[in-house]
Amino acid sequence: MTELRVIHVDMDAFYAAVEQRDNPLYKDKPVIVGGDPNGRGVVSTASYEARKFGIHSAMSCKRAAELCPVAIFLPVNMDKYKNESRKIHAIFRKYTPIIEPISIDEAFLEVKEGNAVEIARRIKEDIYQCTRLTASVGVSYNKFLAKLASDMKKPDGFTVITPDDVQRILPELPIRKIWGVGEKTEKELNNIGIFTVRDLLQYDHEFLLRNWGRRAHELIQLCQGIDYSPVQVEQEVKSMGEETTLEEDTRDLNVLRKYLKVFSQAISDRMYNKGIKCRTITVKIKYNDFKVITRGTTLDRATDSPHILYKYSSDILSCRVPLIKPIRLIGLQVSNLVYPHDPVQITFL
Ligand SMILES: [Mg+2]
Repeated sequence: MTELRVIHVDMDAFYAAVEQRDNPLYKDKPVIVGGDPNGRGVVSTASYEARKFGIHSAMSCKRAAELCPVAIFLPVNMDKYKNESRKIHAIFRKYTPIIEPISIDEAFLEVKEGNAVEIARRIKEDIYQCTRLTASVGVSYNKFLAKLASDMKKPDGFTVITPDDVQRILPELPIRKIWGVGEKTEKELNNIGIFTVRDLLQYDHEFLLRNWGRRAHELIQLCQGIDYSPVQVEQEVKSMGEETTLEEDTRDLNVLRKYLKVFSQAISDRMYNKGIKCRTITVKIKYNDFKVITRGTTLDRATDSPHILYKYSSDILSCRVPLIKPIRLIGLQVSNLVYPHDPVQITFL
């Protein structure tokens, strides 16, 4: 159980880094994404320059503006960040199908074959080549340690924690660094004289278990570097779709096609995000008398292209859906999904 197979990738000051990359004027400046300096909203991400002023995520923008009056406040541009996130996930999938996304800029990966340390280095390098953004990457034999590793040398860090390192690194850590120890638990532990992992390891475990039960059990295990939680791939879906009830019942093909166009793009985005392709495209129609019909087609080759989704669905609509009565709902669904599971063969040259 101590094979190095788990990788944690965490982008550095993600939103702020994207903005700094895209506008040279923001480079090396204290940039704050989210809210505005007039005191509304909270900080989503602060650039490292802004962090030097003590600014951090979830702080009110008002406070941030007080700490750093020259800070540049920018609105959250989620579409842009999502787009970068997609590119990063596409890189992950080149190396392993076992990906557990934690947030838009953070994921656990498990590598079953090949050298995880080497693969992690390549992923970090690929991310930079592809996006000009830096990631901090940690490699270890479980999730807790991999995340701890990625956090150790931020930004642009690369850290491996081996079983031998655990004995050296963990005891020195403040207890707050352990998973699940928030402000409240930290206080409780401090109150009984536990400030570091070493303090906890040397404490009377019987006492802790008696008073805290399962929570203490997990805490003690983590302090010993033990974590059995698996890297969990998102649940596989069998189909995905979009549908809408029209504002006004219609038999107008052009109106209906417009919906299919929007649905095609949305579904294509979702498939691309998950690395999925589909083989079956189905159009669903509900007439104004609530009768529902579905008509589908299966392609020879799986696709995630919005153009192909649109072409086939609008053909189905024109040729196979009788517009005998006004339509009150239109939907588009894809199924027969193809997942990127076949392990990618990686050759080291
Ligand atoms: Mg991050």
